[in-house]
Amino acid sequence: AGPETWAEVDDYLTATLLPEDEVLELALDENAAAGLPAIDVSPLQGALLGMLARLVGARTVLEIGTLGGYSTIHLARALPADGRVVTCEYEPRHAEVAARNLAAAGMAGRVEIRVGAALDTLPGLREDVSAGRRPPFDLVFVDADKQNNVNYLTWALELTRPGSLIVVDNVVRAGRVLDESGTDPVVVGSRGVLEAMGAEDRLEVTALQMVGAKGWDGFALARVR
Ligand code: SAM
Repeated sequence: AGPETWAEVDDYLTATLLPEDEVLELALDENAAAGLPAIDVSPLQGALLGMLARLVGARTVLEIGTLGGYSTIHLARALPADGRVVTCEYEPRHAEVAARNLAAAGMAGRVEIRVGAALDTLPGLREDVSAGRRPPFDLVFVDADKQNNVNYLTWALELTRPGSLIVVDNVVRAGRVLDESGTDPVVVGSRGVLEAMGAEDRLEVTALQMVGAKGWDGFALARVR
């Protein structure tokens, strides 16, 4: 069994377990029509994110890396009607497509898109949280420029509370994470964030390798103590 079988099994699981979802399919079609790269989470991973948000009883979610809002829709749907997703996106074009997809999904009212480099937009959120203008985030999903993952972990710790969940995508990269001498900034970023998570006393951590439609990769998960 190899990547083709992984993808076939993913298709089988998706067809067997998940309901048909025209809104999510439309979002992927709109992303493709707008020329966005197809680097969204898979349907099963999206369902996992939604389930995790529900399990932690999330009311507020921070996402770093919106793309066309596919994962954002999964997360927003998992919140109560007065819940809030703040999602950070560098590319204005991606943010525009995401805004349309979120509106079509009926989720625009629950989602704030912060356009710009996340490291520039996150400090404003900390001010709001410290001043009590918004509550700390119950779940953080990190899925943007991997070279900044250590910085995003630091920000996630600033912006959460005990019991919050932090999920970091793409920490396996088809095994390239083993390459300790690598210069690929993506691998360096993934290794860096895993090492930081492992060394952080404030976090209870684990990671899952996953194979499927997106190849071989994985999520790191951390619960704030
Ligand atoms: N979470 C999305 C999903 O599953 O549907 C996929 C996100 S995609 C893997 C990564 C996104 O992060 C891209 O849209 C990219 O433009 C954005 N990005 C890259 N660098 C960024 C930065 N410094 N700040 C915020 N977003 C960034």
